[in-house]
Amino acid sequence: MAFKINKMGNLIYLTIPSFTDTGMVRHCFTTRQGGVSQGLYAALNTSPYKEEPIETTNKNLDIICRAIGIDYKNLVMTDQTHSDNIKVVDEGFLYEKDYSNRELIGYDALITNLPHIPLITFYADCVPIYLLDPVNRAIGLVHSGWKGTTLHIGQKTLEKMRIHYGTRPEHCLAAIGPSIEKDCFEIGEDTAEIFKQSFKDYHDIIFPKDNGKYLVDLWNVNMQMLIRTGVKQENITESKMCTKCNAELLYSYRRDKGQSGSLSAIMELNY
Ligand SMILES: [Zn+2]
Repeated sequence: MAFKINKMGNLIYLTIPSFTDTGMVRHCFTTRQGGVSQGLYAALNTSPYKEEPIETTNKNLDIICRAIGIDYKNLVMTDQTHSDNIKVVDEGFLYEKDYSNRELIGYDALITNLPHIPLITFYADCVPIYLLDPVNRAIGLVHSGWKGTTLHIGQKTLEKMRIHYGTRPEHCLAAIGPSIEKDCFEIGEDTAEIFKQSFKDYHDIIFPKDNGKYLVDLWNVNMQMLIRTGVKQENITESKMCTKCNAELLYSYRRDKGQSGSLSAIMELNY
């Protein structure tokens, strides 16, 4: 099953039908269409950790959050450092942080079981993973770039949800969002070696090329990781959209040589 493309005026965003069907979450994956950013970031950069006026980014966040029915001022975000650090967003966290500053430093996954607390994570080629435990009412968003993938951050996030919420992977819905596909993700020998060491018994994830480089299938690695952790294959939605190939709709760090805006995954529990 694929992601659904939604259009509202010139705003375009994606949703996951199996997540929508639960009625438990408001969520989306943003595109670059429908915002007010200029130049390289045109038009819907959603990350405040970029070189544009914060008023512009906030306007974009307001546009997309209104469209899916949440208040952008409540967003919980992190600057993301390609780590395997996972933040449990709980009452203690909300107590520490005032309403206008729910920013975290140094995390790459956010989980919560609190309703009406929207989480947001940022992307431009890295793999977005959405997790929803409909039994214990808990959600997670994971930023799984190549480093995070080799650190097994998707698996570790499910384990953290088990510890904190009693989550069982076999009950979970998951989704793998737009990111860089295998044929667009060429890596060198050193990185390929890290993948080989991290995923010894995985299959069809590293492909040698004639030029001495390798292609890595981040979608397949993360898919296999979720399944090995216990998520049922039929409960995983894959967008299969490549950020690098879809210049009109998506930002790509590699295509734009590091000068791209950020796409985002946004999700909150309804109740
Ligand atoms: Zn591509």
